[in-house]
Amino acid sequence: MVFEGLADKLQGALKKLKSKGKLTEKDVKEAMREVKLALLEADVNFKVVKDFINKVKERAIGAEVMESLTPGQHVIKIVNEELTALMGTTQSKLTFSSKPPTVYMLVGLQGAGKTTTGGKLGGYLKTMGKRPLLVAGDIYRPAAIKQLQVVGKQLDIPVFSMGDKISPVNIAKAGIEHANQHSNDVVIIDTAGRLHIDENLMDELEDIKKTVNPQEILLVVDAMTGQDAVNVAERFNEKLGIDGVILTKLDGDTRGGAALSVRAVTQKPIKFVGMGEKLSELEAFHPDRMASRILG
Ligand code: GDP
Repeated sequence: MVFEGLADKLQGALKKLKSKGKLTEKDVKEAMREVKLALLEADVNFKVVKDFINKVKERAIGAEVMESLTPGQHVIKIVNEELTALMGTTQSKLTFSSKPPTVYMLVGLQGAGKTTTGGKLGGYLKTMGKRPLLVAGDIYRPAAIKQLQVVGKQLDIPVFSMGDKISPVNIAKAGIEHANQHSNDVVIIDTAGRLHIDENLMDELEDIKKTVNPQEILLVVDAMTGQDAVNVAERFNEKLGIDGVILTKLDGDTRGGAALSVRAVTQKPIKFVGMGEKLSELEAFHPDRMASRILG
């Protein structure tokens, strides 16, 4: 189950409401106190939790709910709807350029899972009937180019590289040229990930952005780093402007703080989630399904 700890606690808090006949305002407030604690323990951003609880309370402590025949169910439905809204309401799909190739730039810190995710995304697009090209733009991590080539080979997706002596901006430009010549309709540019966000990293990414004018900049962040992932997303979004987030390692995330806060904090949607190390383990993110999975 995803976010086991959070799911257990939320379900526990809401179960008490379900078993009651009529609800009093005190019952709802008590349950919301438990929901609040569960969200904070799950490392959800404090302000996000506060707003969420206020919204649920406002809707739940109204005559319509309190006097309904199944008030407990009603409150659970409200929590489900607000959790869904928190994560973006509906699935946010990838967009494509009207004039191919569609260029996606993958950005993120080292170790987040960028290279693996580049491959996964290529595989996903291939199943949609696209002809992706992976471009090796991370010239600083010695093994990154080789790793992308291995991933490409496993998926039977071509990888464009120019070694590590040419600037990433020029590699990106040449990659798109290569795609044009080989009828690749999607280009996924893997970019450098540093250990920390620094000016050099951002400047270089900005240069690539200016040069290739990507359809989307997708930020890859590690869900297991909780609020750090949200802070990284905020910084990248401020500096670079991102179009969406790919949240990796959700399979190992028992808490859920990043998944529940990223959207509310950055206003940018989670588009995909990584659910394992295998190259097939990438899923489109559906806020409603995720909310239902958390609430059981
Ligand atoms: P990069 O430095 O950002 O390019 O990261 P890599 O692509 O090299 O990934 C770092 C590690 O995370 C590797 O061991 C990957 O197998 C692992 N990884 C990536 N995505 C996922 C995921 O969704 N789930 C799990 N469990 N591991 C992942």
